[in-house]
Amino acid sequence: MRTLIENAMVLTMDGKGQVFPQGYVLFGEEGILEAGDGICRQDADIRIDGKGGILMPGMVNVHSHIPMIPFRTMGDDCPDRLRRFLFPLELEAMTPGLVYAAARYAACELLLSGVTSVLDMYYFEDQAARACEEIGIRAWLGETVIGQETCDSKVPYGGLKICEELIQKWQGHSRIHPLVAPHAANTSSPEMLQAAYRLSEKYQVPYTLHASEMDYEMEYFKEKYGQTPIAFLHGLGVLGERTIAVHCIHMSDSDIRLLAETNTKVAHCAGSNTKAGKGVCPVLDMRKAGVEVGLGTDGPSSGNTLDLFTQFKMAASFQKTKYHDRSAFPAKEIVELGTMGGARVLGAQDEIGSIEAAKQADLVLLETKSANMFPLYNPYSAIVYSANASNVDSVWVGGRQLVRGRRLVETSLQKERSRLQAEMPEFERRAKKYHDMI
Ligand SMILES: [Zn+2]
Repeated sequence: MRTLIENAMVLTMDGKGQVFPQGYVLFGEEGILEAGDGICRQDADIRIDGKGGILMPGMVNVHSHIPMIPFRTMGDDCPDRLRRFLFPLELEAMTPGLVYAAARYAACELLLSGVTSVLDMYYFEDQAARACEEIGIRAWLGETVIGQETCDSKVPYGGLKICEELIQKWQGHSRIHPLVAPHAANTSSPEMLQAAYRLSEKYQVPYTLHASEMDYEMEYFKEKYGQTPIAFLHGLGVLGERTIAVHCIHMSDSDIRLLAETNTKVAHCAGSNTKAGKGVCPVLDMRKAGVEVGLGTDGPSSGNTLDLFTQFKMAASFQKTKYHDRSAFPAKEIVELGTMGGARVLGAQDEIGSIEAAKQADLVLLETKSANMFPLYNPYSAIVYSANASNVDSVWVGGRQLVRGRRLVETSLQKERSRLQAEMPEFERRAKKYHDMI
């Protein structure tokens, strides 16, 4: 079955930065067959009129905790909420059923906003994988490994075993990619950070962890080891091309050099970092040093939204402000971070991230008829500064259309919301205990 989308402005995000103003893309389930300008000479089974919209590669969200939908808008302004109520409430209230229903809902929300690939780390991650598999999104998923009791492990570091089972079950799947996810540099012991890294080496899967995020984390490493978290992780031998360090807010010049030398990737979450008042990641310096950076939303309780439009605006604005330079991070570069940049962070640059023949047909069609999309001198600027998730008209993942006319094709948001609500009463009852904070 061949589908042709025509009459659209195609932003390929390929190495040459090609744009086809009156463009088309022809694809099948096996991938993109052809992209170009003007009239496509090949036959197609389905023809779709792009109505002058913008056709771009599916967006790549490189850091999230999607099953945390039930926590959204809870204690947004509460200091140190991770330790004060997030960890305790997760421990007592998260269940496999809640993770599954929340992950389904989140996957739908991601697709409706044009995100076709997401990296997730959480608990009961097999349920999140099942949800993503069913909904049709492309996902990289890791069970959290942490030095404390969790909702799915009575013993600290139980996540290591769960993670290996997750890898064995899902490795080789066309869309669901397991990975190893130690929680953070300061919440796992050095031995366990290394054990988790060995697991990622054994199965050749990515290794992701939060690092250089918290003020207390920086003090802890300084006092205990006389080092930064990045230097400490380097000393453990866990930085490398499969490692994705998340946040990296507090960075020295030598930290950035270490990331570049080891080809460690970075997930930048502008919204979550600044909402928490933690600081702004020095993305410009990292990029100058040659570090690959992708954009993430963090969980729906940290950044509240799962779409990358919000991150585009914040990443651009905070970087320009941090460096006092309006010309820093032109819109095209920001869109690049959210597409090819994310693909490179995941090691999936040959598969996704741009519209090129032989790549997966992960595509997003943005409508340009809404009030906020006129006039349109620069499509990249429109995406970064003007657009929002409501401009997403259609979405395909691997050639399968999952969003059409701003609605899900195979399920409905109302159905997924009802499913999630049915799982939430016990969670909400237990959350009441923390009413003074949330
Ligand atoms: Zn996170």
